[in-house]
Amino acid sequence: MSTVVLTAPLKGWVAPLDETPDAVFSERMLGDGLAIDPLGSTLHAPCDAVVVTVHRARHAVTLRAANGAEILMHVGLETVALGGEGFSVFVREGQAVKAGDKLLGFDLDLLAQRAKSLITPVVITNLDAFSIVRRDQDRAISVGDFLMELSPLGGAQVVASTSTQEISRAVTVPLAHGIHARPAAKIAETAKGFDAEIGLVVGARRASARSPVGVMSLAIRHGDDIDVVASGVDAEAALQAIVDLIEGGMGEGAPVAAPMAGKASAPAAVIESAPVTPTELPRDGVLKGVLAAPGLAIGKAVRLASSDIAVREAGEGVAHEEAALTAALAKVRAKIETNAAKGDKARKAILGAHLAFLDDPELAAGARRLIGEGKSAGFGWRSAVGGYVEALRGLGDRRLAERVDDLIDLERQVLRALSGEEDDTTVLPPGAILLADELLPSQLMGVDPGVVAGFATARGGPTSHVAILAAAMGIPALVALGGGVLSVEDGAALILDADSGTLRVAPDAPALEAAQTALAQRQSRKAAAKAAAHEPAITLDGTRIEVFANTGSVKDAAAAIENGAEGSGLLRTEFLFLDRETPPDEDEQARQYQAIADALDGRPLIIRTLDVGGDKAAPYLPIPAEENPALGLRGVRVSLWRPHLLKTQLRAILQVKPPQGQKRGQCKIMVPMIASLDELRAVRAVLEEAQRELGRELGVTERVALGVMIETPAAAVTADLIAAEADFLSIGTNDLTQYVLAMDRGNPELAARIDALHPAVLRMIDLTCRGAEKHGRWVGVCGGLASDVAATAILLGLGVTELSTTASIAPEVKAQVRSLSLDACRALAQQALQQTSPEAVRALAQAFTKTGA
Ligand code: PEP
Ligand code: MG
Repeated sequence: MSTVVLTAPLKGWVAPLDETPDAVFSERMLGDGLAIDPLGSTLHAPCDAVVVTVHRARHAVTLRAANGAEILMHVGLETVALGGEGFSVFVREGQAVKAGDKLLGFDLDLLAQRAKSLITPVVITNLDAFSIVRRDQDRAISVGDFLMELSPLGGAQVVASTSTQEISRAVTVPLAHGIHARPAAKIAETAKGFDAEIGLVVGARRASARSPVGVMSLAIRHGDDIDVVASGVDAEAALQAIVDLIEGGMGEGAPVAAPMAGKASAPAAVIESAPVTPTELPRDGVLKGVLAAPGLAIGKAVRLASSDIAVREAGEGVAHEEAALTAALAKVRAKIETNAAKGDKARKAILGAHLAFLDDPELAAGARRLIGEGKSAGFGWRSAVGGYVEALRGLGDRRLAERVDDLIDLERQVLRALSGEEDDTTVLPPGAILLADELLPSQLMGVDPGVVAGFATARGGPTSHVAILAAAMGIPALVALGGGVLSVEDGAALILDADSGTLRVAPDAPALEAAQTALAQRQSRKAAAKAAAHEPAITLDGTRIEVFANTGSVKDAAAAIENGAEGSGLLRTEFLFLDRETPPDEDEQARQYQAIADALDGRPLIIRTLDVGGDKAAPYLPIPAEENPALGLRGVRVSLWRPHLLKTQLRAILQVKPPQGQKRGQCKIMVPMIASLDELRAVRAVLEEAQRELGRELGVTERVALGVMIETPAAAVTADLIAAEADFLSIGTNDLTQYVLAMDRGNPELAARIDALHPAVLRMIDLTCRGAEKHGRWVGVCGGLASDVAATAILLGLGVTELSTTASIAPEVKAQVRSLSLDACRALAQQALQQTSPEAVRALAQAFTKTGA
């Protein structure tokens, strides 16, 4: 392995890295190098190399030199926040570049106004294998001038040059559902970490491992024998990584003998591959479909026909069309990222899958090939996507066919962006029930849930992304109604009873009346609950239950108060820490916590310490890539890994002042993802240190309550040990359910089955309550189960005395509490613990509510 000389990628002033006003660089957390204060606006390659990554926000590029050295160039500081504005990219990942080639362009004036600093660190990130043997600094430089020389450390592996010989390994696929969308995305993600060309081969068909869509379209099933092939510099390692990934099963074991209960077991026959043609309505006007999202709606039909987007075939020059495609992809990417930032978990997971498809190199390469042949960007994109749509539809696999919607959605979004057309802006009348052949996720995300009463589609599947979104938005929905739904007249009266799987067209007076009564009962229950939202929640036998709301901002705190919540049982502080390049300092945190405490006007506020890691990445925390992030460095593990972050946060929390005239104690502290008592002790030690530093008394009156979130099975089964030292326990049922059931909470494929009312989860809650009782500690629930009115009686019966809900549901939870007697709840809870499935628990809870507490 040879030395490599890096030349200046920018014109400017070169300085030591220590002068970078950002600890991530100045403390060399990412590696050693130099910093350039730029006078030019183009970043060039400092040596011959391959582009490893171009950051999504286009402000940073990593290259790998021929000898294996990895060079990160980061234009300006905190420029990620510009979301790509002011930057243009001249290269793509995987591309080979020569020293001096243009990599990025940027608007120097815009950066000067909007970025924290223009300083551009150039950092070698794999210093375990290289050292900087010569460097030039503290002088003006021009592009191409000498910058530094890197030399390999002794014993480092020689990187083979450009071996084109292909190696291969046979694998039998153990994944229960074969290689569908999610495993395909994982394979692509892993493949992108290598330079080698990696492919999967099934019979005569082959796809690049970097292309999730290509891999999906191979329709690899459980038990299939496939070959993994690789060629190039790191072919051996790449091959091994992909083989390990597939053989490891990616968390999807062997198939179960019988189909699982619930939505996922819907018949495969409901998926139609081609557009459905209208058929006659049945005589009784009742169409039968498959439940996609529960609820009852009465409204008027609004037919949605997706207009065809016209696309010219001939291009206007390769450069023009290439640029148009790049810009359109960037525009769609930015829109998806913005939507994901505002959304709930389900929406985020779905949009994450869309981003993986959008990044699929095969799709873009397919479009670019056609552009190179003189076609327009739109024609190229439509053809590239269309090929995969046909392939997926032709596979006869229900789960893969459901992903077709996602591809069509992306096809349309990119075509719209290319045509400069704005999104569909059909104005919908209130109470609209949307009828369509199919509905796309982005169409549903664009509607106002206050206006749309429901939707029904001719095609579609119950586990499609649009179904999951509808459930998250509270919109009742049916899918797979067949061609009849396309014959319904615009404006026709409809009753959509998603729970019974029926769409009644032009109902007669008695049917309408019955539906109206049922709906009115539901609505009046809601209205009565809202009217009594500010009354306390006291059970029939006189026990007060605290109903709190979860918060993440001042706005959430205001919503909590408006809905009658009596405090906040979970402040998710990580929202302050994400989407930025440096963590908030003590003052900023103290100001934010104070503002939320003030908005709650003295009501209790339980502040959870930083819960990043897993699916919540913070760019300034260099958490190494993990195969199982949900089981990796997250929650309290991150806080104890970086204790200065924890101390800063605890100091900020301790500074929150109570409203005038009130004693301290409004704020309690809660620690996420605890797996053993030692972690709580370590946090308490940091807390006591922070108190001492702030000169706080450690007497009983000053003792800030420190509680624990029960989110791991380990914490639940040792709750008696933890409660001996924790001041309270609050159950995070979202994570607890994921870990007890071994089902990823962010996996849309599992969304229909991951139910916190599973008896196994209830047994964990039971253990937690019994452990806490031994030490006289209270137990709350702040995960999603607290917001599920069907679960309230069971939770109370198990011993929970605080519920921290989504603000909007707090009135209904309070109303539910008022209708219950604790004795009856206890009996119900004991029965629930003996059930064998979540469905059975739900049926039991429903019967209990009907017959009265
Ligand atoms: C939970 O896991 O239930 C919880 C409340 O924490 P989060 O959803 O923020 O992980
Ligand atoms: Mg959690």
